[in-house]
Amino acid sequence: MFNVETIRKDFPILHRQVNGKPLVYFDNAATSQTPQQVMDAIVEYYSNYNANIHRGVHSLSQEATDKYEQARLTIQKHFNAKASHEIIMTSGTTHGINLVASGFTTLLKKGDEVIVSALEHHSNIVPWQMLCERTGAILRVLPMNDEGELVMAAYADLLSEKTKLVFVNHISNALGTINPIKQIIEQAHAVGAAVLVDGAQACPHLKPDVQALDVDFYVTSAHKMCGPTGVGMLYGKEDWLNKLPAYQGGGEMIAEVTFEKTTYADLPHKFEAGTPNICGGIAFGAAIDYMNHIGFENIATYEHELLEYATAQLLEIEGLKIYGTAKEKTSVISFNLKGIHPYDVGTLLDKMGVAVRTGHHCAQPIMDYYKIPGTVRASFAFYNTKQEIDTLVSGVKKAKMMLS
Ligand code: PMP
Repeated sequence: MFNVETIRKDFPILHRQVNGKPLVYFDNAATSQTPQQVMDAIVEYYSNYNANIHRGVHSLSQEATDKYEQARLTIQKHFNAKASHEIIMTSGTTHGINLVASGFTTLLKKGDEVIVSALEHHSNIVPWQMLCERTGAILRVLPMNDEGELVMAAYADLLSEKTKLVFVNHISNALGTINPIKQIIEQAHAVGAAVLVDGAQACPHLKPDVQALDVDFYVTSAHKMCGPTGVGMLYGKEDWLNKLPAYQGGGEMIAEVTFEKTTYADLPHKFEAGTPNICGGIAFGAAIDYMNHIGFENIATYEHELLEYATAQLLEIEGLKIYGTAKEKTSVISFNLKGIHPYDVGTLLDKMGVAVRTGHHCAQPIMDYYKIPGTVRASFAFYNTKQEIDTLVSGVKKAKMMLS
């Protein structure tokens, strides 16, 4: 049974004070908090079996290797990948996208087209712009509407036999919109284009099934889903991963090295040069286990309740506008108070112990669309409560009074 008070006991940080007030942590879309179970996995690693992996004959190294590869299997199972070697351990979403964008340098030619959605985080825009600069490919944009939804009617017109790649997030970090990725993937495949889905914001809220989606690449970061920073995963269909050239060169990713010629290791090691974030990978596995223990259906139901509760209350504040009113959205509310800079609202909320994000949320094109410098973003996780939302709402009212 889902009980938020019991769950909150797993998160020591939720019991601290900030500026003399109980912390209300509503910056979950930037990074989630870490439960004790994941911290225990980290402490256990450094206390008991800290060793480099894949190369030692000694017991500690083998133990660390087993635990790291066990984490890969946990990730494979969670995302329903066909094979564990389709899971590439990365330092996070940004790393995964750059790895794929770099690989496509040899697969694109001048005049090819790639499509980016208008709702992307900078990390799913800039690496592709760099790719276009390297190859002469053309970047086209799938537009958004006032509700913060993608204009799917425009998608068919953008797609052609010139389209080689489409990249889109599963959920927008700035607005919370859940994008129709299954449809996006189907239509892209119909013209022979591959699709990369940025799942950084989806994985804390739902359980993607990469085979059911038939997605070519799916990337995410552990720190958005109760794991540590600096670790994440890239799922790629085996055929695609075999087609892409190696990314970074170094130890671990080779089969044989001579000064004349180097041959590369098989998947997944071909893309995993150097000593990885071993402890982070193991903790990522622990985070996935933790979230599955809570249950993604429970998480979705409860977070939806929080979203509806907060939306209704915030909309009662005169002059408050919410950006991103898509029918399908997760527990993210981006808003502004009329005539007040989001930064000022965020600073006052912090004084009241409430942590929100302010600014462009690494999604400047979305802010340009709405012609605003940024928003205040409150993003809720399954360990937040309605009482905390009450604190946010009264904080916003106070901020409005003080700043008007
Ligand atoms: N994409 C989206 C949608 C995100 O929200 C984020 C993190 N804010 C990223 C990509 C980048 O993730 P990371 O910094 O962990 O690489």
